[in-house]
Amino acid sequence: MSNDLILVRFGELSTKGKNINMFIKRLGQDIKEKLHTFKTLTYDIEHDHIYIHINDESFDQIAKRLKNVPGIGSFSLVKYVAEDLESIKNECLSVAKSSSAKTFKIITKRIDKLFPFHSDEINRSIAGLLLSQTKLKVDVHNPELPIHIMIRPGKAYIYSTSIKGMGGYPCGVGGKSLMLLSGGIDSPVAAFQMIKRGIRLECIHFSAPPYTSENVIIKIRDLLKVLSQYQTSIKLYIVPFTEFQENIYKYAGTSYAITIMRRMMLRISEAIAHHHNCLVLSSGESIGQVASQTLKSMAAIEECLNMPMIRPLATVDKNDIIEQAKSIGTYEISIRPYEDCCTIFDVKDPTTCPHLDKIIEIESKFDYQKYIHDCIENIKYEYITLEDQEEEF
Ligand code: ATP
Ligand code: MG
Repeated sequence: MSNDLILVRFGELSTKGKNINMFIKRLGQDIKEKLHTFKTLTYDIEHDHIYIHINDESFDQIAKRLKNVPGIGSFSLVKYVAEDLESIKNECLSVAKSSSAKTFKIITKRIDKLFPFHSDEINRSIAGLLLSQTKLKVDVHNPELPIHIMIRPGKAYIYSTSIKGMGGYPCGVGGKSLMLLSGGIDSPVAAFQMIKRGIRLECIHFSAPPYTSENVIIKIRDLLKVLSQYQTSIKLYIVPFTEFQENIYKYAGTSYAITIMRRMMLRISEAIAHHHNCLVLSSGESIGQVASQTLKSMAAIEECLNMPMIRPLATVDKNDIIEQAKSIGTYEISIRPYEDCCTIFDVKDPTTCPHLDKIIEIESKFDYQKYIHDCIENIKYEYITLEDQEEEF
């Protein structure tokens, strides 16, 4: 059984004033949930850090999962030794000897104020030892090997490397949003960004069979499996949109079809969001990408909404979105060929500048409330969880 432990540092928790206890509790629960398959782990959840005792488990396996927990700033593998200077010196010397670095710095934090040496004394004493026993030199500004010593009652913690976490906030501390999820590249990246900011997501997908095939749903599920590494369970609503969409095209004509269709998507999404306590909608829209994403289009489409709409990618370039999709693991799934309900009706002249009076005129031609009602009545939902595919990641 190993004596090692993992010191977990918080992401942006420190900026959260009175809410900090709630944040730490949430992060502790998220970490435990993410690591629940490692049966021998034990935890100390404290106000400055979370400590995970590795016991019989593998650090590398645990690290792989910790990297995907929102709210973790960074984490370090810590060796602990008895709280006496001799043991601390021995451990520091062994860290220095096994390193290929050329420069070092000792950084001591004395939490146990009863320890008989001050931090400065410890720093100087250990630096002297390393200078005499190794070829390492001191660099106080930019050391290749920073050796941290934390003196706690009964134990001294020693670590020299730290691994970057996702940052952001723990899952759900910022409330809940309903994300409009297509099978494209953008919306899964937008979803990731929302999750990272501590927003719990539910997702809604508009499906138009038989124009869109079952492959689209499989694709959506696969995208959510990737995202469930970051939020362990995601609810997916699937809206049967075919009949409604056919009618939209019948009444709207080609240039306004997309505008009206997106307004209807938002109305349905808003109703679902309200019913399930989601405070805002979110999407993968990015300014200027397509006709429905000009400022004029977005303003005309959003006009029907009584709820905020968050667009995390509004100002992000497509190339940067693609890079992010690759790094979170959604890109290869997103580029599988598929038909989206937005693209199946071949609209060659979508307006980039829709006028509200024209929109109102079109919407007054048919009883769209009935179709909204039918879509909501027939909505299906399912949960995509990390459990289903633990082995893959
Ligand atoms: P890409 O632009 O890479 O094709 P996308 O997901 O951005 O993918 P767009 O056609 O640009 O697709 O749609 C803009 C946004 O509208 C999407 O990011 C998504 O939030 C939402 N959206 C589009 N189609 C659907 C759909 N079938 N179901 C749910 N939301 C959708
Ligand atoms: Mg897009």
